[in-house]
Amino acid sequence: MSLDEHRLFTRGFSAENCIQCGKCIAGCQHTDLTPQQARDIMKKVTIKPQWYPELSFCIRCGKCNYRCPKDARPSDLEYECLEYKRRAEQEFPSSMAYAINGMGAEGWSANFFRDVYKGLGKTDKNILRAWATPKKSKDLLFIGCTDRMLPRTWEESQTLRNAAKFGGPDDCCGVWAIQGGLLDEGYRIAKRLVNRLLENRFDRLVLGCGHCQKVLTRMIPEKLGIVLPFPVISIYDYFLEMLETGAARVTTPLNLDAVISDPCFGYENGDEFLNSVRRLATKIGINISELPHNRENAVCCGYNGYFNNGKVANFVKTALMKRKDFAQSGKKHVMSYCPGCHLFNHYFQPGYKSHYLLEDVLLALDGKVAEPFSVLYRRLARPRIAWNLASVAKSALLPVKE
Ligand code: SF4
Ligand code: SF4
Repeated sequence: MSLDEHRLFTRGFSAENCIQCGKCIAGCQHTDLTPQQARDIMKKVTIKPQWYPELSFCIRCGKCNYRCPKDARPSDLEYECLEYKRRAEQEFPSSMAYAINGMGAEGWSANFFRDVYKGLGKTDKNILRAWATPKKSKDLLFIGCTDRMLPRTWEESQTLRNAAKFGGPDDCCGVWAIQGGLLDEGYRIAKRLVNRLLENRFDRLVLGCGHCQKVLTRMIPEKLGIVLPFPVISIYDYFLEMLETGAARVTTPLNLDAVISDPCFGYENGDEFLNSVRRLATKIGINISELPHNRENAVCCGYNGYFNNGKVANFVKTALMKRKDFAQSGKKHVMSYCPGCHLFNHYFQPGYKSHYLLEDVLLALDGKVAEPFSVLYRRLARPRIAWNLASVAKSALLPVKE
């Protein structure tokens, strides 16, 4: 099928606005292009959008949109170029395919998330089954793909007892398909999620994952013209609201000194979102400091780099930038509020102790966490997961010619 037949949504980049000044990519911390090189590339790309190897540095973090003096949305052009690359490939890299959830309706079968869900015990599976069924509640908490790997954590939390939980195995916001350049598929996944959410009856949607928040509150209105017919609140604001109204209280302050590490979606969700995360961390007893690159300059944990081509080398290259930030912070404890960042920092940033803010919030408020991430680490070491990871390792490790 041709690209044009796939054009079901607005790509976003405005060629009319763009003056080819190159400020977008010249200011990008993932490349060291000179201003002239950046101008030359942007001229070429805007005249004929397609995949250019010179763009392989881009991890689609979205930050160049804020550098553009003409509001031309250059990051959307980067997505579009990657999409050309994907469509031209004979086969979607299996290492990336395995990392994308929500593609069940597209005919894809196994993926990492589904494999973890399948390997859960009876109690957890029953919880997941219940979460897949639409609910009626004042607040509906959508549990994202990664948090869903630890069902009892959310289901058994006293603090979260009044929010109905929702999220079936294939319910995904589509972010990783989109990040990987499968734009049509990604937006179809997102649209399916909106329809699934609408099967519920609720007053307010609480989002546990910032990626979901970015897709549902920013990308869907911009790209699909869908405005959600219900208010959305982040789980951080939800906890803050409970603390401020007395509906919850800190029973077990953490007394932790940690550097906060913003994920790619942080700045995309706005200053209020970033401030709420910090306020909540402080309220539960974390003495937070900032990385040299946070907020509008936040560096990726590596996972977005992986979604350029499904190669470990690209992941490592990006993760090393984050590591440099960790070293400069002088701290040994790193607080992430993206479950993906937390997982990757845990596995691939030796010498640093990775913390997940939501887990620590539950610990501080409830005094316990039914299934901490340490349970997930054990699950990931099981033979079935290890075997499936090994089967995509060749695709992830072999070098690729851009
Ligand atoms: S997208 Fe914006 S920053 Fe980039 S070249 Fe065009 S006008 Fe300049
Ligand atoms: S999307 Fe991010 S990585 Fe890509 S050019 Fe823009 S700022 Fe750089």
